[in-house]
Amino acid sequence: MADQGKPATSFTAQVNKEALTRYAMTDREDFHDIDRGFLAGFPPVVKNDAGDVVIDGPAMDWITDETPCPDEVNPSLWRQSQLIKRAGLFKVVDGLYQIRLSANITIVDAPDGLVFIDCGLSTVHAKEGLALFRKETGNDKPVAAVIYTHTHFDHYGGVKGLVDEADVKSGKIPIVAPGTIESFDTHAIGENVITGNAMSRRMGYTFGLMLPRCECGLISGGIGANNDGMNPSFSYISPTDPITKTGEKRTLGGWEFEFLYAPDTEAPEEMHIWIPAISALTCAENANHTMHNIQTIRGARTRGRSQFRSLPGRDARALGRSGGGSFRTAHLAGLGQRDGEGVPGESA
Ligand SMILES: [Zn+2]
Repeated sequence: MADQGKPATSFTAQVNKEALTRYAMTDREDFHDIDRGFLAGFPPVVKNDAGDVVIDGPAMDWITDETPCPDEVNPSLWRQSQLIKRAGLFKVVDGLYQIRLSANITIVDAPDGLVFIDCGLSTVHAKEGLALFRKETGNDKPVAAVIYTHTHFDHYGGVKGLVDEADVKSGKIPIVAPGTIESFDTHAIGENVITGNAMSRRMGYTFGLMLPRCECGLISGGIGANNDGMNPSFSYISPTDPITKTGEKRTLGGWEFEFLYAPDTEAPEEMHIWIPAISALTCAENANHTMHNIQTIRGARTRGRSQFRSLPGRDARALGRSGGGSFRTAHLAGLGQRDGEGVPGESA
């Protein structure tokens, strides 16, 4: 797109300047938190088999930690963009790693195998991320299981970059997901395949995907470095192991996982996960370091406001405060970061 955008009007500049007073901009602790556990980054540029650029790290280089917020950008969005441009492999705590690019792929390093919690936006993200994990850690454990936290495509789209579909079909690798299999398929496929063309077109406008990356154009997609947003390669495999009640447990890779069903929240089918062995809770996308919305412009189903607000608190109080912490499925991990942090849901 040739249009390079227009500079802020005096009105916009004034509104953004006033917004500065509403945020604790002198608190730069998040810069420390976001780098914690960083092990390795992706190659700067990665192309798919067709030669299209699918990861473009330098595209974010114009945003640095020290670049002051331009008149055109809300200061909170600017700070978040400075933080989430960090992509790569992170060790969160012993037994828990994350691949961050778009939505996070969390790798649970259980005794008998790896358990993936969510799969990222695209197969390239997943494949490159898993290769990075294997190379940096030397960990060659087999894949024990995949867990989808909810029905949004940036959480299952990379699944075929992590596992072979034949291994799922044969029952060797289970895919655990919230809701019945029929319900998960309906919402995942219904939202992103049946209405996929319309929704991806609207999504292009919502997130400004075709705008140039500059202060008058695209700043960030809000959930991660998002430098794999162009030419993504989506995939999908139906889940095999449904979770329909809070309190259901599975042993995966030798560790127990407890599931807390949270339907009709940020997605029609969603769940939270407690891993006792490492005292780790995730409230999926119901409690992330991002701005939540109830009615999405791209046309996804309107979120269930009541449960969206209350269920993270329910699970954080019940489990997170039993001595553990939380990790998130996009952006900052949370767990192992600031003292006293780690319990989501208080403001979610
Ligand atoms: Zn989501």
